[in-house]
Amino acid sequence: MKAQELAQALLGSGRRASATQTTDPGSSNQTQNWEALNRRALAKSITLLESTLPSDRAEADALISMLLPHTGQSLRLGISGVPGVGKSTFIEVLGLYLINKGHKLAVLAVDPSSTVSGGSILGDKTRMERLSVNPSAFIRPSPSRGTLGGVAEKTREAILLCEAAGYDIVIVETVGVGQSETTVSLMTDLFVLMQLPNAGDDLQAIKKGVMELADLVLINKADLDPNAATRAQAQITSAMRLYGFHGNPSKSTQLDQGHDQDALHGHGHEHEQSHKAQSSTPLPKVLQLSALQEKGIENFWQTVSAYKVSREKSGLWSERRRSQALAGMWERVDSELKRSFKEYPPVRSMLPNVLAGVGNGSLAPTVAARQLLFAYKGGHA
Ligand code: GDP
Repeated sequence: MKAQELAQALLGSGRRASATQTTDPGSSNQTQNWEALNRRALAKSITLLESTLPSDRAEADALISMLLPHTGQSLRLGISGVPGVGKSTFIEVLGLYLINKGHKLAVLAVDPSSTVSGGSILGDKTRMERLSVNPSAFIRPSPSRGTLGGVAEKTREAILLCEAAGYDIVIVETVGVGQSETTVSLMTDLFVLMQLPNAGDDLQAIKKGVMELADLVLINKADLDPNAATRAQAQITSAMRLYGFHGNPSKSTQLDQGHDQDALHGHGHEHEQSHKAQSSTPLPKVLQLSALQEKGIENFWQTVSAYKVSREKSGLWSERRRSQALAGMWERVDSELKRSFKEYPPVRSMLPNVLAGVGNGSLAPTVAARQLLFAYKGGHA
Protein backbone atom coordinates (compact mmCIF):
# COMPACT_ATOMS: atom_id res chain seq x y z
CA MET A 1 0.00 0.00 0.00
CA LYS A 2 1.49 3.32 -0.94
CA ALA A 3 0.96 6.98 -0.14
CA GLN A 4 -2.45 7.62 -1.70
CA GLU A 5 -4.05 4.45 -0.36
CA LEU A 6 -2.49 4.87 3.05
CA ALA A 7 -3.70 8.45 3.29
CA GLN A 8 -7.22 7.37 2.39
CA ALA A 9 -7.15 4.53 4.88
CA LEU A 10 -5.88 6.79 7.65
CA LEU A 11 -8.21 9.70 7.08
CA GLY A 12 -11.23 7.75 5.90
CA SER A 13 -11.29 5.12 8.57
CA GLY A 14 -10.61 7.61 11.34
CA ARG A 15 -13.56 9.76 10.32
CA ARG A 16 -15.89 6.86 9.69
CA ALA A 17 -15.07 5.38 13.06
CA SER A 18 -16.14 8.50 14.90
CA ALA A 19 -19.15 9.03 12.64
CA THR A 20 -20.35 5.51 13.33
CA GLN A 21 -19.79 6.04 17.01
CA THR A 22 -21.98 9.09 17.22
CA THR A 23 -24.77 8.25 14.80
CA ASP A 24 -25.26 4.59 15.47
CA PRO A 25 -24.14 3.42 18.87
CA GLY A 26 -25.52 -0.06 18.18
CA SER A 27 -22.98 -0.95 15.53
CA SER A 28 -19.97 -1.25 17.79
CA ASN A 29 -18.59 -4.14 15.76
CA GLN A 30 -18.41 -1.95 12.70
CA THR A 31 -16.72 0.78 14.72
CA GLN A 32 -14.15 -1.70 15.97
CA ASN A 33 -13.49 -2.85 12.42
CA TRP A 34 -12.83 0.71 11.32
CA GLU A 35 -10.61 1.24 14.35
CA ALA A 36 -8.63 -1.90 13.49
CA LEU A 37 -8.24 -0.77 9.87
CA ASN A 38 -7.16 2.64 11.03
CA ARG A 39 -4.53 1.19 13.36
CA ARG A 40 -3.25 -1.16 10.68
CA ALA A 41 -2.94 1.68 8.18
CA LEU A 42 -1.11 3.76 10.79
CA ALA A 43 1.32 0.93 11.57
CA LYS A 44 2.01 0.45 7.85
CA SER A 45 2.51 4.18 7.34
CA ILE A 46 5.06 4.36 10.13
CA THR A 47 6.87 1.33 8.71
CA LEU A 48 6.98 3.16 5.36
CA LEU A 49 8.65 6.21 6.87
CA GLU A 50 11.13 4.04 8.75
CA SER A 51 12.22 2.37 5.50
CA THR A 52 15.62 3.33 4.15
CA LEU A 53 14.75 2.60 0.50
CA PRO A 54 14.82 5.84 -1.55
CA SER A 55 11.55 4.92 -3.33
CA ASP A 56 9.85 4.39 0.04
CA ARG A 57 11.24 7.71 1.24
CA ALA A 58 9.61 9.44 -1.71
CA GLU A 59 6.28 7.74 -0.90
CA ALA A 60 6.63 8.65 2.76
CA ASP A 61 7.25 12.30 1.85
CA ALA A 62 4.18 12.24 -0.40
CA LEU A 63 2.13 10.67 2.39
CA ILE A 64 3.19 13.26 4.96
CA SER A 65 2.51 16.11 2.56
CA MET A 66 -0.99 14.77 1.86
CA LEU A 67 -1.73 14.37 5.55
CA LEU A 68 -0.23 17.64 6.75
CA PRO A 69 -3.51 19.61 6.66
CA HIS A 70 -4.95 17.02 9.05
CA THR A 71 -2.16 17.23 11.62
CA GLY A 72 -1.32 19.40 14.59
CA GLN A 73 -4.47 19.03 16.64
CA SER A 74 -3.12 16.64 19.28
CA LEU A 75 -1.56 17.26 22.63
CA ARG A 76 2.01 16.00 22.42
CA LEU A 77 3.26 14.85 25.78
CA GLY A 78 6.86 13.77 26.47
CA ILE A 79 7.41 11.39 29.37
CA SER A 80 10.85 10.47 30.62
CA GLY A 81 12.43 8.69 33.56
CA VAL A 82 14.93 5.98 34.40
CA PRO A 83 13.95 2.33 33.87
CA GLY A 84 11.84 1.18 36.81
CA VAL A 85 10.47 4.61 37.76
CA GLY A 86 7.02 3.51 36.58
CA LYS A 87 6.62 4.98 33.11
CA SER A 88 4.71 2.11 31.57
CA THR A 89 2.51 1.68 34.65
CA PHE A 90 1.69 5.40 34.51
CA ILE A 91 1.15 5.59 30.76
CA GLU A 92 -1.20 2.63 30.89
CA VAL A 93 -3.29 4.07 33.73
CA LEU A 94 -3.28 7.57 32.23
CA GLY A 95 -4.11 6.16 28.80
CA LEU A 96 -7.11 4.21 30.07
CA TYR A 97 -8.28 7.27 32.01
CA LEU A 98 -8.06 9.44 28.88
CA ILE A 99 -9.73 6.88 26.62
CA ASN A 100 -12.53 6.74 29.16
CA LYS A 101 -12.92 10.49 28.69
CA GLY A 102 -13.32 9.97 24.94
CA HIS A 103 -9.75 10.55 23.76
CA LYS A 104 -7.66 8.42 21.38
CA LEU A 105 -4.10 7.83 22.50
CA ALA A 106 -0.90 7.00 20.64
CA VAL A 107 2.29 6.03 22.47
CA LEU A 108 5.61 6.32 20.60
CA ALA A 109 8.98 5.47 22.07
CA VAL A 110 12.41 7.04 21.61
CA ASP A 111 14.86 4.54 22.97
CA PRO A 112 18.58 5.08 22.38
CA SER A 113 19.35 1.56 23.60
CA SER A 114 17.42 0.13 20.65
CA THR A 115 19.60 1.93 18.12
CA VAL A 116 22.78 0.52 19.65
CA SER A 117 21.85 -3.04 20.49
CA GLY A 118 18.72 -3.62 18.42
CA GLY A 119 17.07 -4.52 21.73
CA SER A 120 14.83 -2.04 23.44
CA ILE A 121 14.07 -0.95 27.01
CA LEU A 122 10.89 0.76 25.90
CA GLY A 123 8.00 0.12 23.62
CA ASP A 124 7.54 -3.56 24.29
CA LYS A 125 3.82 -4.05 23.91
CA THR A 126 3.65 -6.50 26.78
CA ARG A 127 4.60 -3.65 29.11
CA MET A 128 1.15 -2.14 28.73
CA GLU A 129 -1.10 -5.12 28.41
CA ARG A 130 -4.45 -3.47 29.01
CA LEU A 131 -3.67 -0.45 26.89
CA SER A 132 -2.23 -2.38 23.96
CA VAL A 133 -5.48 -4.30 23.43
CA ASN A 134 -7.66 -1.22 23.71
CA PRO A 135 -9.07 -0.19 20.30
CA SER A 136 -8.57 3.51 21.09
CA ALA A 137 -4.84 3.09 21.78
CA PHE A 138 -1.91 2.72 19.42
CA ILE A 139 1.49 1.71 20.79
CA ARG A 140 4.64 1.74 18.69
CA PRO A 141 8.13 0.74 19.85
CA SER A 142 11.18 2.83 19.04
CA PRO A 143 12.73 2.33 15.60
CA SER A 144 15.65 -0.01 16.21
CA ARG A 145 17.89 1.24 13.42
CA GLY A 146 19.76 4.44 12.88
CA THR A 147 21.20 7.16 15.04
CA LEU A 148 19.30 9.05 17.72
CA GLY A 149 18.98 11.89 15.21
CA GLY A 150 17.43 9.51 12.70
CA VAL A 151 15.06 8.09 15.29
CA ALA A 152 14.06 11.62 16.30
CA GLU A 153 13.24 12.48 12.72
CA LYS A 154 11.08 9.37 12.26
CA THR A 155 9.33 10.03 15.55
CA ARG A 156 8.53 13.61 14.55
CA GLU A 157 6.95 12.27 11.39
CA ALA A 158 5.17 9.48 13.24
CA ILE A 159 3.54 12.10 15.49
CA LEU A 160 2.05 13.75 12.41
CA LEU A 161 0.74 10.42 11.11
CA CYS A 162 -0.88 9.64 14.47
CA GLU A 163 -2.58 13.02 14.43
CA ALA A 164 -3.91 12.50 10.91
CA ALA A 165 -5.22 9.10 12.00
CA GLY A 166 -7.32 10.85 14.64
CA TYR A 167 -5.22 10.35 17.77
CA ASP A 168 -5.73 13.48 19.83
CA ILE A 169 -3.15 12.65 22.48
CA VAL A 170 0.35 11.52 21.52
CA ILE A 171 2.73 10.41 24.24
CA VAL A 172 6.42 10.18 23.37
CA GLU A 173 8.16 8.06 25.97
CA THR A 174 11.90 7.96 26.56
CA VAL A 175 14.48 6.77 29.07
CA GLY A 176 16.89 8.98 30.97
CA VAL A 177 19.83 8.06 28.78
CA GLY A 178 22.15 10.45 26.96
CA GLN A 179 20.54 13.02 24.73
CA SER A 180 17.19 11.30 24.38
CA GLU A 181 15.45 13.57 26.88
CA THR A 182 16.51 16.71 25.04
CA THR A 183 15.40 15.11 21.80
CA VAL A 184 11.95 14.31 23.13
CA SER A 185 11.50 17.68 24.83
CA LEU A 186 12.13 19.28 21.44
CA MET A 187 9.23 17.48 19.79
CA THR A 188 6.55 17.71 22.48
CA ASP A 189 4.27 20.41 23.91
CA LEU A 190 4.94 19.44 27.51
CA PHE A 191 7.85 17.43 28.83
CA VAL A 192 7.24 15.41 31.99
CA LEU A 193 10.05 13.95 34.08
CA MET A 194 9.24 11.06 36.43
CA GLN A 195 11.24 10.70 39.64
CA LEU A 196 11.29 8.39 42.65
CA PRO A 197 10.37 9.65 46.13
CA ASN A 198 13.98 9.63 47.31
CA ALA A 199 15.02 12.00 44.51
CA GLY A 200 14.77 15.03 46.78
CA ASP A 201 17.39 13.61 49.16
CA ASP A 202 19.96 13.68 46.43
CA LEU A 203 19.25 16.53 44.08
CA GLN A 204 22.77 16.21 42.72
CA ALA A 205 21.72 12.93 41.22
CA ILE A 206 19.15 14.63 39.03
CA LYS A 207 20.87 16.04 36.03
CA LYS A 208 20.43 19.79 36.13
CA GLY A 209 20.00 19.97 32.39
CA VAL A 210 17.10 17.54 32.47
CA MET A 211 15.44 19.50 35.22
CA GLU A 212 15.60 22.57 33.02
CA LEU A 213 13.88 20.69 30.24
CA ALA A 214 11.02 19.52 32.41
CA ASP A 215 7.73 21.39 32.38
CA LEU A 216 6.42 19.08 35.07
CA VAL A 217 8.06 16.64 37.49
CA LEU A 218 6.08 13.67 38.78
CA ILE A 219 7.17 12.00 42.01
CA ASN A 220 5.93 8.47 41.41
CA LYS A 221 5.56 5.66 43.96
CA ALA A 222 4.43 8.22 46.52
CA ASP A 223 2.60 5.31 48.20
CA LEU A 224 5.90 3.73 49.24
CA ASP A 225 6.98 6.62 51.46
CA PRO A 226 4.54 9.56 51.59
CA ASN A 227 6.89 11.66 53.75
CA ALA A 228 9.78 11.23 51.37
CA ALA A 229 7.51 12.08 48.46
CA THR A 230 6.36 15.30 50.13
CA ARG A 231 9.97 16.22 50.94
CA ALA A 232 11.03 15.53 47.37
CA GLN A 233 8.15 17.61 46.07
CA ALA A 234 9.24 20.62 48.15
CA GLN A 235 12.93 20.27 47.31
CA ILE A 236 12.42 19.80 43.59
CA THR A 237 9.90 22.64 43.51
CA SER A 238 12.44 25.06 44.91
CA ALA A 239 15.20 23.69 42.69
CA MET A 240 13.00 24.19 39.64
CA ARG A 241 12.19 27.72 40.71
CA LEU A 242 15.93 28.31 40.75
CA TYR A 243 16.42 26.84 37.30
CA GLY A 244 13.14 28.19 35.92
CA PHE A 245 14.42 30.95 33.69
CA HIS A 246 17.79 29.56 32.70
CA GLY A 247 16.97 27.09 29.98
CA ASN A 248 14.43 27.14 27.22
CA PRO A 249 12.90 30.64 27.10
CA SER A 250 9.55 29.07 26.32
CA LYS A 251 9.55 27.78 29.88
CA SER A 252 8.81 31.15 31.40
CA THR A 253 6.98 30.33 34.62
CA GLN A 254 5.52 33.83 34.68
CA LEU A 255 3.32 32.89 31.79
CA ASP A 256 2.19 29.62 33.32
CA GLN A 257 -0.82 30.90 35.16
CA GLY A 258 -3.55 28.57 36.31
CA HIS A 259 -6.72 27.86 34.35
CA ASP A 260 -8.39 24.56 34.71
CA GLN A 261 -10.00 22.99 31.70
CA ASP A 262 -9.72 19.75 29.81
CA ALA A 263 -6.95 20.40 27.34
CA LEU A 264 -8.75 19.18 24.29
CA HIS A 265 -12.47 18.91 24.63
CA GLY A 266 -13.24 21.40 27.33
CA HIS A 267 -14.50 18.64 29.62
CA GLY A 268 -13.41 20.69 32.59
CA HIS A 269 -15.82 23.46 31.67
CA GLU A 270 -17.94 22.87 34.73
CA HIS A 271 -14.90 23.56 36.90
CA GLU A 272 -14.08 26.80 35.17
CA GLN A 273 -15.89 29.09 37.55
CA SER A 274 -14.31 27.66 40.66
CA HIS A 275 -10.86 27.92 39.17
CA LYS A 276 -11.13 31.44 37.89
CA ALA A 277 -10.36 32.63 41.37
CA GLN A 278 -7.03 30.81 41.23
CA SER A 279 -6.06 32.12 37.84
CA SER A 280 -3.24 34.26 39.15
CA THR A 281 -1.59 31.36 40.99
CA PRO A 282 1.39 29.91 39.12
CA LEU A 283 0.81 26.36 37.98
CA PRO A 284 2.49 23.62 39.99
CA LYS A 285 5.72 22.20 38.63
CA VAL A 286 5.98 19.12 40.81
CA LEU A 287 3.19 16.65 41.55
CA GLN A 288 2.94 13.43 43.52
CA LEU A 289 1.68 10.25 41.96
CA SER A 290 1.06 6.61 42.64
CA ALA A 291 0.68 5.01 39.25
CA LEU A 292 0.23 1.61 40.87
CA GLN A 293 -2.64 2.76 43.09
CA GLU A 294 -3.95 5.00 40.31
CA LYS A 295 -3.77 8.07 42.55
CA GLY A 296 -2.90 11.50 41.21
CA ILE A 297 -3.91 10.78 37.61
CA GLU A 298 -6.80 13.23 37.53
CA ASN A 299 -4.73 15.94 39.22
CA PHE A 300 -1.97 15.38 36.66
CA TRP A 301 -4.36 15.68 33.74
CA GLN A 302 -5.99 18.79 35.12
CA THR A 303 -2.56 20.37 35.52
CA VAL A 304 -1.58 19.46 31.96
CA SER A 305 -4.87 20.88 30.72
CA ALA A 306 -4.29 24.07 32.67
CA TYR A 307 -0.82 24.45 31.13
CA LYS A 308 -2.29 24.08 27.68
CA VAL A 309 -5.02 26.65 28.25
CA SER A 310 -2.64 29.16 29.79
CA ARG A 311 0.06 28.74 27.14
CA GLU A 312 -2.46 28.98 24.35
CA LYS A 313 -3.61 32.26 25.81
CA SER A 314 -0.09 33.63 26.04
CA GLY A 315 0.87 32.39 22.57
CA LEU A 316 3.59 30.17 24.01
CA TRP A 317 1.91 26.99 22.80
CA SER A 318 1.97 27.84 19.10
CA GLU A 319 5.37 29.51 19.41
CA ARG A 320 6.87 26.29 20.78
CA ARG A 321 5.27 24.29 17.96
CA ARG A 322 6.60 26.75 15.39
CA SER A 323 10.16 26.74 16.70
CA GLN A 324 10.12 22.94 16.99
CA ALA A 325 8.99 22.58 13.38
CA LEU A 326 11.77 24.88 12.17
CA ALA A 327 14.36 23.14 14.35
CA GLY A 328 13.26 19.80 12.86
CA MET A 329 13.76 21.18 9.38
CA TRP A 330 17.26 22.54 10.09
CA GLU A 331 18.29 19.35 11.85
CA ARG A 332 17.45 17.40 8.71
CA VAL A 333 19.25 19.89 6.47
CA ASP A 334 22.33 19.80 8.74
CA SER A 335 22.61 16.04 8.75
CA GLU A 336 22.01 15.72 5.01
CA LEU A 337 24.56 18.45 4.22
CA LYS A 338 27.14 16.76 6.39
CA ARG A 339 26.54 13.45 4.67
CA SER A 340 26.80 14.89 1.16
CA PHE A 341 29.83 16.98 2.21
CA LYS A 342 31.70 13.87 3.29
CA GLU A 343 30.75 12.08 0.08
CA TYR A 344 31.75 14.92 -2.25
CA PRO A 345 34.74 13.45 -4.17
CA PRO A 346 37.31 16.29 -3.62
CA VAL A 347 36.49 16.29 0.09
CA ARG A 348 36.48 12.51 0.32
CA SER A 349 39.93 12.27 -1.24
CA MET A 350 41.34 14.83 1.23
CA LEU A 351 39.74 13.34 4.31
CA PRO A 352 42.23 10.56 5.22
CA ASN A 353 45.18 12.98 5.39
CA VAL A 354 43.20 15.72 7.10
CA LEU A 355 41.80 13.34 9.72
CA ALA A 356 45.26 11.93 10.38
CA GLY A 357 46.73 15.43 10.69
CA VAL A 358 44.10 16.63 13.17
CA GLY A 359 44.36 13.33 15.03
CA ASN A 360 48.15 13.55 15.53
CA GLY A 361 48.10 17.26 16.28
CA SER A 362 50.03 18.40 13.20
CA LEU A 363 47.03 20.21 11.70
CA ALA A 364 44.82 22.66 13.58
CA PRO A 365 41.15 21.58 13.55
CA THR A 366 39.96 25.01 12.39
CA VAL A 367 42.50 25.10 9.55
CA ALA A 368 41.50 21.57 8.56
CA ALA A 369 37.82 22.58 8.48
CA ARG A 370 38.62 25.61 6.30
CA GLN A 371 40.63 23.46 3.88
CA LEU A 372 37.79 20.98 3.52
CA LEU A 373 35.19 23.72 3.03
CA PHE A 374 37.42 25.39 0.46
CA ALA A 375 37.53 22.14 -1.52
CA TYR A 376 33.76 21.72 -1.17
CA LYS A 377 33.09 25.19 -2.50
CA GLY A 378 35.18 24.44 -5.56
CA GLY A 379 38.09 26.57 -4.56
CA HIS A 380 36.05 29.64 -3.58
CA ALA A 381 36.61 31.14 -0.15
P1 GDP B 1 9.35 1.70 33.67
O1 GDP B 1 10.59 0.88 33.46
O2 GDP B 1 9.71 3.13 33.98
O3 GDP B 1 8.37 1.58 32.56
O4 GDP B 1 8.66 1.16 35.02
P2 GDP B 1 7.42 0.16 35.21
O5 GDP B 1 6.13 0.86 34.92
O6 GDP B 1 7.69 -1.11 34.50
O7 GDP B 1 7.47 -0.08 36.78
C1 GDP B 1 8.55 -0.70 37.44
C2 GDP B 1 8.04 -1.35 38.71
O8 GDP B 1 7.56 -0.35 39.62
C3 GDP B 1 6.86 -2.30 38.48
O9 GDP B 1 7.04 -3.42 39.32
C4 GDP B 1 5.65 -1.50 38.89
O10 GDP B 1 4.60 -2.30 39.38
C5 GDP B 1 6.21 -0.63 40.00
N1 GDP B 1 5.48 0.63 40.17
C6 GDP B 1 5.12 1.49 39.19
N2 GDP B 1 4.46 2.53 39.71
C7 GDP B 1 4.39 2.35 41.05
C8 GDP B 1 3.82 3.08 42.15
O11 GDP B 1 3.22 4.14 41.99
N3 GDP B 1 3.99 2.54 43.40
C9 GDP B 1 4.65 1.38 43.62
N4 GDP B 1 4.76 0.95 44.88
N5 GDP B 1 5.19 0.67 42.61
C10 GDP B 1 5.06 1.13 41.35
